[in-house]
Amino acid sequence: MIRPSIKKIAKKENWYRGKDLVFGFYKDYIFNIGNSSFFDQLQFKYIIVRLPSLNQASTSKIKKRLELKFTKLEFGEGFLSLEFMETSSYIKIEEIYKVLDLLVKIFQDEKIEPTNCCYKCKSKTVNLKYFILNRIGITYCNTCIKSVEKQLENINKRNDDIEKNYLKGFFGSILFSIPAVLLWVLIAVYLERLAAFMSIAFFTLGLKGYDYFKAVWGKLTYPTLVLSNIFMILFSNVVTAVTLLYLENIAITEIIYHIQYNQDIQKMIIDNIVLSFILSFFVWVSVFFALRFKKESIKIAKKA
Ligand SMILES: [Zn+2]
Repeated sequence: MIRPSIKKIAKKENWYRGKDLVFGFYKDYIFNIGNSSFFDQLQFKYIIVRLPSLNQASTSKIKKRLELKFTKLEFGEGFLSLEFMETSSYIKIEEIYKVLDLLVKIFQDEKIEPTNCCYKCKSKTVNLKYFILNRIGITYCNTCIKSVEKQLENINKRNDDIEKNYLKGFFGSILFSIPAVLLWVLIAVYLERLAAFMSIAFFTLGLKGYDYFKAVWGKLTYPTLVLSNIFMILFSNVVTAVTLLYLENIAITEIIYHIQYNQDIQKMIIDNIVLSFILSFFVWVSVFFALRFKKESIKIAKKA
């Protein structure tokens, strides 16, 4: 949710808005301003400035002049992002303007080209259109937007086409989830049902594994991760039951027999699996919404 102070700036400057930030031109540079969500542990506001590519010297000069003022300062591919904490109270509108003025002053001192133009061809047409590209505000001219859209469409299509990709991601997420199985069994043996909460760890580790194996993001990423999650939950529950029985000094052959025919044991395993799936369901739903943003996307921005 965008906070009122930021909305006010957007209205005053005639800016546009994305899902959780506002953006537009201020003294010839394009700024995005947003805030942390209410669910974040720490409250902060952030500014993201789209910049032309800078050389090492200007990057470090800008860094030096800003370093002490912000809790986080990061130069990325074509942008600078800053964060300021709101520990005791929210930052006021005047303070945000002070920051914007300071940034503009630094950019002018460093002779950084203004960005009140098409981000791609740099033309200063009056017909600039405002877009949200991968969640950050940007401006393009009518000609460039067509090629940008085509380019993104191709990227997304290519990611979806690679079949092996998802298999790679699946194995990555399984492999990375294995430590969680061990933890799951340990917790299950000593703390009983708490283990079901481990399904959350599976998703986190699964995601890491997916990325580690450099599987790219596409439309099958989410089902792949959920499938690996389901597999690991079933596996962990069965391993837990086997471990519990083994600790009761039951021989492995008998354990297999119990799992196949003993209704009490089967009921225990199924109950735990159901509980795990109920907890996982919440994880899957929240991740579903988080992952949607991983896709390369562009859409037209609305007036704030
Ligand atoms: Zn252009």
